[in-house]
Amino acid sequence: MKKITFLAVLIVCGLVAFYLYIDTTPPVISWGVAEDDSINHALKVNVADDIGLKEVCYTLTGGACTGEERCSRELQTQSFDLPIDPDQCVVNSEPLEVKITVKAVDSSLITNKTDASITLTYDNKAPNLMTLQGSLSLKRGGAGVVLYEVGEVPSETGVLLGDLHFRAFEFEPNKYLSFYAHPYNVKADEFKPRVFAVDAAGNLRKIRPGSRTASHTYRKEVIELNDDFLETVKDKMMATSTRPPLDVFVEINNKVRQENYQKIAQICQNTEQKKLWEGAFLRNQGATKAGFADSRTYKYGSEVVSKQVHLGLDIAGINNTQIFAANHGKVLFVGDIGIYGNVVIIDHGYGLHSLYGHLHQTNVQEGDIVRKGDVIAVSGETGLVFGDHLHYEMRISGVAVNPIEWFDNVWVLNNIESYLPSVGEEK
Ligand SMILES: [Zn+2]
Repeated sequence: MKKITFLAVLIVCGLVAFYLYIDTTPPVISWGVAEDDSINHALKVNVADDIGLKEVCYTLTGGACTGEERCSRELQTQSFDLPIDPDQCVVNSEPLEVKITVKAVDSSLITNKTDASITLTYDNKAPNLMTLQGSLSLKRGGAGVVLYEVGEVPSETGVLLGDLHFRAFEFEPNKYLSFYAHPYNVKADEFKPRVFAVDAAGNLRKIRPGSRTASHTYRKEVIELNDDFLETVKDKMMATSTRPPLDVFVEINNKVRQENYQKIAQICQNTEQKKLWEGAFLRNQGATKAGFADSRTYKYGSEVVSKQVHLGLDIAGINNTQIFAANHGKVLFVGDIGIYGNVVIIDHGYGLHSLYGHLHQTNVQEGDIVRKGDVIAVSGETGLVFGDHLHYEMRISGVAVNPIEWFDNVWVLNNIESYLPSVGEEK
């Protein structure tokens, strides 16, 4: 009887030991990249096992790598980052297809194994980038265009300027064009635009577009606020607020304005991948009441209560005057945008937009195709205004530029149109 009990205890202990020391789960390999990915860096491939790893080996095949096996043994760890650097396989600087095979063995008594492989493109060379032609000179607040060629299909390309990204459009295989701006709030000596391209592996190349820029001064203006105006603004835009009219005005002029700018920049991300416009832009009829990039200081009595920059051109004709489309395009937006009141935004293609604000009435709908000179609206005094006028803006990739340049036939021809390809043009 004693013998049988002893045997039973022995069997139970054996089963427990078996359970504890014999694991049947094989090691797990995590690549950190997907099959057929392009990479430009070394990899840390993670190998993990519940019980512990004994041996991890890998081979690299492709280019100068012959598939020679390299092993790490007696690991005694549950997780191991295997450093793999495909750079050693590079023969010349051309992109290379590399196959990585990893074999892992755990320390279980029945030695579970995992074999896995992955094929990647290793490319550490930045794409070739060459400017073809483009605007030679810009000025602060103004616009330009650059045409360039990329040596491989980019995952991202355009013109960078600080945080700003001006979009580019492919007009022929490997050839791109980008409208870009020297924003009014960037000093001439800080204007350093770069044409850039990033390839699938993440390699980035940047080059200069080859243009020069010049400083340009814009007007400064002091706007005296009176109670009558402040009451009108409050009644029109925030009638239910119990706060003093001056506080309401400051909030609208600062916070609401910024929200409106963001909304416009977002709307302007939509654009046709072709040139819809032709020749100079039409200036609507009326007197210029405020200019592009005017610095405005708002005073209430002797106190400065707000400072802003005017991003468009104010044109005042007779009240409720007809408003024309400045050029051919597609109506992108019709609706209310806070301080702008009723707005029409026309897309002219390739990231170029015109905006018409403070409208009393709009005669077009989103999606309408318009021609230069078509009546699209009637002027009014919706939004934050001192009287009936048109607020007109031009934007490139959402960045406001000086509309005056675009009204000038000679400027448009010499600085923009003469560089553009004829393909993709709508006749
Ligand atoms: Zn305005």
